[in-house]
Amino acid sequence: MPHPPAFQPPRAVFFDRDGTLIEHVPYLHEPEGVVLLPGVREAVAGLQAAGVKLFLFTNQSGIGRGMFPLSAAEAVNRRLEALLDPAGGVFTATCIAPERPDEPSLYRKPSPRFILEMLAAQKMVPEQAWMLGDSAVDWEAGRAAGVHTAAIVPESAAAKEPLRREELGVVPYAGVLEWWNRVQGAKS
Ligand SMILES: [Mg+2]
Repeated sequence: MPHPPAFQPPRAVFFDRDGTLIEHVPYLHEPEGVVLLPGVREAVAGLQAAGVKLFLFTNQSGIGRGMFPLSAAEAVNRRLEALLDPAGGVFTATCIAPERPDEPSLYRKPSPRFILEMLAAQKMVPEQAWMLGDSAVDWEAGRAAGVHTAAIVPESAAAKEPLRREELGVVPYAGVLEWWNRVQGAKS
């Protein structure tokens, strides 16, 4: 699949969490429920070795709905990070957007605010960054921020919102590792 013409190696990657890095469990709030998707650990190790800054950007409306506290979402994220790298420190920054969909949103995707703030803090331009996610709100946030955007569409799962993905012109990849292999120009 072709890359955008302006492609250059990424310096930053923004990851959606559920359905992108880990198995999607609705309103997951228990660390023992974290299951990495295939290839994710390997891809993250490769990105770390390449010096790419990694960010976690997750909508968690279960907090705004009163289903679980912010601390539970943080515990899930800590488990994710520990599974990715026992040494920790995988993510330069994490955004947990707690709003319900019907609430005014500060950071909830499709708002690109977190991406834009992090790029400014890192003194990066959007062309140096990617947003990876499995939902339309991920792709919309990436597009709104002007970063490269990839759809994670596992072969094992029914593709989400394929029409919206096509409308946005977002290229699908079967997983994060498949994307990373493509980015590096490796055969996958
Ligand atoms: Mg997701």
